[in-house]
Amino acid sequence: MAGLGLWNSHGRHDRPNIIYHAFAQGDSNFYTSLKPGLEEHYMSRVGKNQDQFWVVMFLGKPKSRGEIRLHSGDPFDAPLIDPKYFSEKEDVNELVKGFKFILKLVEGTSAFRKYNATYHTTKFPGCEKYEWRSKKYFACYIRHVGRTVFHPAGSCRMGERGDKMAVVDSKLRVQGMLNLRVIDASVMPAIPNTNINAAVMMVAEKGADLILESYLGP
Ligand SMILES: Cc1cc2nc3c(=O)[nH]c(=O)nc-3n(C[C@H](O)[C@H](O)[C@H](O)COP(=O)(O)OP(=O)(O)OC[C@H]3O[C@@H](n4cnc5c(N)ncnc54)[C@H](O)[C@@H]3O)c2cc1C
Repeated sequence: MAGLGLWNSHGRHDRPNIIYHAFAQGDSNFYTSLKPGLEEHYMSRVGKNQDQFWVVMFLGKPKSRGEIRLHSGDPFDAPLIDPKYFSEKEDVNELVKGFKFILKLVEGTSAFRKYNATYHTTKFPGCEKYEWRSKKYFACYIRHVGRTVFHPAGSCRMGERGDKMAVVDSKLRVQGMLNLRVIDASVMPAIPNTNINAAVMMVAEKGADLILESYLGP
């Protein structure tokens, strides 16, 4: 079994902001970034012969913004990257709503009830002190297991001249320098909703056209 779902947690109907992927047991490496042994502990009460599925949630338009800073004046020194996941509380709140929606689906719809589907109720290590199903419990769980899905973007974003946080202009030229362009995910002013590779390709196509145009004219 595998499935994909889109839902909006913010009540506006312009676009969904939560993306779900559902996997059969064994298809997901969701917990592999955790400390060794944590996953085994958390899953220890799930029977060996029980069917299982996982639902993984992504937040499409996070408000939290990471940061990249120079470590030193040496260009060969690795930069300091701080993704600052969940630095905006609203991101956690939206995912808590997403969590509750999944519970409603699993426990409240005939499609799942006919398989006697139940949510795994072992409390996640580190969140034991919170009441199961409370907002605080879900928030704690999300903060413990939340991680990247590899879509970093916007580290040297496009913007108007005079915008101190912008690195490139609308022709992808590094502001204040000659003959240097940045053409990749880093120029995005805001992360696109959901997976970004298609948008990266569009940036690349546009960048190739801009370079040609600068040699051949429009
Ligand atoms: C594990 C994983 C799974 C993903 N799955 C999906 C998915 O299912 N769908 C989706 O839409 N997106 C997915 N993505 C995201 C997508 O792959 C990236 O957003 C996209 O590739 C970013 O493109 P980019 O050109 O900005 O950077 P990259 O593709 O990272 O390209 C950077 C290039 O620069 C080169 N480079 C780095 N340093 C130097 C240097 N000093 N000198 C010269 N060259 C250098 C690298 O070798 C690389 O070729 C996934 C990413 C990862 C890591």
